[in-house]
Amino acid sequence: MTVRTKRLSAVTAEPSNNSCPHLETLIVSSCSSSKATVNSGSLVSSPAVRSQPVLNVLQKKHNSSVTDKRHSVKWLDAMKAQSPPRFHSLHGDTPESYDIEAAKYAAWMKKHPSALSIFKEVMVEAKAKQVVVFLDYDGTLSPIVEDPDQAYMPNDMRVIVKEVATYFPTAIISGRARPKVYEFVQLAELYYAGSHGMDIMGPANGTNGFKAKGTQMKDKMGNDVVLFQPASEYLPLMDEVCKILSESSKGIRGARVEHNRFCVTMHFRCVKEESWGPLAEKVESVLKDYPTLCLTHGRKVLEIRPAIAWDKGKAVDFLLSSLGLSDCRDVFPVYIGDDQTDEDAFKVLNGLNHGCSILVTSVPKETKASFSLRDPCEVMGFLHHLVIWKEQDLEVHTGMGMVHHP
Ligand SMILES: [Mg+2]
Repeated sequence: MTVRTKRLSAVTAEPSNNSCPHLETLIVSSCSSSKATVNSGSLVSSPAVRSQPVLNVLQKKHNSSVTDKRHSVKWLDAMKAQSPPRFHSLHGDTPESYDIEAAKYAAWMKKHPSALSIFKEVMVEAKAKQVVVFLDYDGTLSPIVEDPDQAYMPNDMRVIVKEVATYFPTAIISGRARPKVYEFVQLAELYYAGSHGMDIMGPANGTNGFKAKGTQMKDKMGNDVVLFQPASEYLPLMDEVCKILSESSKGIRGARVEHNRFCVTMHFRCVKEESWGPLAEKVESVLKDYPTLCLTHGRKVLEIRPAIAWDKGKAVDFLLSSLGLSDCRDVFPVYIGDDQTDEDAFKVLNGLNHGCSILVTSVPKETKASFSLRDPCEVMGFLHHLVIWKEQDLEVHTGMGMVHHP
């Protein structure tokens, strides 16, 4: 038995618990009906983002404290729905409560089966196709932790992601600032899409024979890279919002603001639940002065970001197109993520009618994903299987497999 097979057994034994070529116009998202035109990779032609015509529409939406409160409650409810409490805090920590929740999860898994348990079935369609791998970071490659600065990726995970990238074009798509994600992952051969895809960078020479398009430049380490930032003109605005939000939330214990370049994230994880309402109101209150920005929610986070039609799904579309793989029947994208923001990418894969969308969750959730994995440990198991699947395929077709698995 090889080291890899042993590692896999350990994993599965864990308790189951330049501009975008196809992009001509970006429409300002559901926050508004106005339009902004992309010019050579630069999203907004006006130098003053705040003075876009969209302002009046949005200011009307935020002009009373009653409306503010109603909006913040709406966003809070949406965030809570994405952040279900652990079941023992709902039902107590008894064997019966575990049985109830296990039964609910088992019923949910009939609709969203484990991509690890039925790996061979999942990959039947992928035979002879170019697999492209998209991975969220927090909650997918790393465990969710209280301090977002401590969300380190286990080294075993880094090793397997590196192996995956040896065989398939691989991208990390995260809400985090791109440099922060790179700091955690530290693999130069990957594509990184930070700020929910609004900040994309990859190796200029490409990987696996594929090269992405974008502005050529050098990164901090001197590597040749390509860069695509569809909302670059929003950067000063995001700096401003981050400062104001940090100041206004100072009085709420546990509140934490994270500057993710093209989005500003308010973390609720360490805030007592009775303070969630007041904190959501503060976020909403800052937002009302910035009508070209909008609010989104995730797992115990509210996020302010440019109100442009760009999300993780658009980032997947862009990367596939940029790599010359869109409109291609011989491509099989795999997307793994755990958050509401990943649903946009699942939707894109569903629209392609091929590929594999996988939600990481240990509790039943409404999702567009076809398959599931329980936690980052199972993600690691799935990625191991993916590498072995490719190596076995190479052995069969070329006799060039790199590792022999008895
Ligand atoms: Mg995540």
